[in-house]
Amino acid sequence: MELAFSHAEQAFAREVHDFIQANLPDDIRQRVEHDLHLTRDDYMRWQQILGRQGWHTYTWPREHGGPGWSAVQRYIFEKTSAELNCPTIQPFGPRMVGPVIFNFGSEAQKAQHLSGIRDSTVWWCQGYSEPASGSDLASLATRADDAGDHYVVNGQKIWTSYAHYANWMFCLVRTQRGTRPQEGISFLLIDMTTPGIVVQPIPMLEGTHSFNTVFFTDVKVPKANLVGEEGQGWRYAKFLLEHERVENSNIGFSTFAMRRLHRVAKSVIQHGRPLLEDPVFRSKVSAVEAQLKALEINTLRALSAMGSGSSPGAGLASSLKIRGTEIGQRISELICEAAGPQGQALDPVLLSGQGDMAGIEPSLIGAPANYFWRRAMSIYGGSNEIQRNIIAKQVLGL
Ligand SMILES: Cc1cc2nc3c(=O)[nH]c(=O)nc-3n(C[C@H](O)[C@H](O)[C@H](O)COP(=O)(O)OP(=O)(O)OC[C@H]3O[C@@H](n4cnc5c(N)ncnc54)[C@H](O)[C@@H]3O)c2cc1C
Repeated sequence: MELAFSHAEQAFAREVHDFIQANLPDDIRQRVEHDLHLTRDDYMRWQQILGRQGWHTYTWPREHGGPGWSAVQRYIFEKTSAELNCPTIQPFGPRMVGPVIFNFGSEAQKAQHLSGIRDSTVWWCQGYSEPASGSDLASLATRADDAGDHYVVNGQKIWTSYAHYANWMFCLVRTQRGTRPQEGISFLLIDMTTPGIVVQPIPMLEGTHSFNTVFFTDVKVPKANLVGEEGQGWRYAKFLLEHERVENSNIGFSTFAMRRLHRVAKSVIQHGRPLLEDPVFRSKVSAVEAQLKALEINTLRALSAMGSGSSPGAGLASSLKIRGTEIGQRISELICEAAGPQGQALDPVLLSGQGDMAGIEPSLIGAPANYFWRRAMSIYGGSNEIQRNIIAKQVLGL
């Protein structure tokens, strides 16, 4: 299905396309193109270029310094970014904590934090999960005890993506024990340089480092860093998760991966002709392509509902997260299937852009790492089983 863009939208698409062509550094473009690992500097360089253009926080309304784009403009920007091999914008600042701060934060918090998110000079991380509180997040045990003008935080967070890069963490802590586990949770902004914070790496299967566990021992956090009301953190956390789940429909990634699937399936020759011409393989590709189109339209619906920062609703956010991750995983499976034996090598040295790449089809270097990474999509942001529970309860009333 083709969207019938208006003249103004077509002009906007050209503007985005031309800007990216002119400004995306070539070394970053190539690393993304071949699914090699990106460094903090790679992400920050591109995000800061977007920030100077006012596009890093492209989902934000004008009143908070965003471009105030419509759902269609955001969609065009995401698709074009994926088509031209831009790095994924890290969501922690612009998509996660930013909307929480401008919806629920104090004026002082807005003044302190929003510009650093807009310009991408500050890297944020998400301190939600704990060793015994993942799906059952409300059981979290990291404590913040009242000590007058500050809290004293003790506990442990886990699976904290890029905590080793982060300047600040938005963190769920327990300030009280209530009758329900959701009560007494508060939402704190924590400066990662505060004494008492230790970040410990958790190595990934494909030899990279993005995960961490973070320990807090008597960490003093000023009360001025409490977002909204004490004990109401669950409300803000849920608002943020719904945004995260729409984001996790991963249209950008899937568009990019679909293009790679076509490229690989065209370049692999089987029985004297490109694999893409094999009727069985082609039908697999067509099936997932049709699913991706349907997902795109539903994501647009959710983006319209979100308007300038409001919530899309839990049921829709959950269904997009499930479909988006399933489709993304399916495409990464088909890339590995098409690539055959060449697509099975998992070499961290090659993934970092070093080592001898001679004789290896560039599109295949990142294929297996990507396959494994995409397994994680159905876990983070709340696992797909948990999303099905949400739909069962909130949409079907079961
Ligand atoms: C790539 C990646 C990045 C992440 N980044 C972050 C981050 O930056 N910050 C952060 O705070 N967290 C992060 N996480 C953690 C993520 O949010 C948790 O892994 C997730 O919420 C699941 O929790 P868990 O790992 O403790 O699994 P568990 O909750 O122990 O679940 C284990 C399994 O049981 C299933 N299950 C559990 N309860 C139910 C139920 N009631 N009904 C049906 N099935 C159930 C789950 O679906 C899952 O399959 C990340 C995870 C991944 C994979």
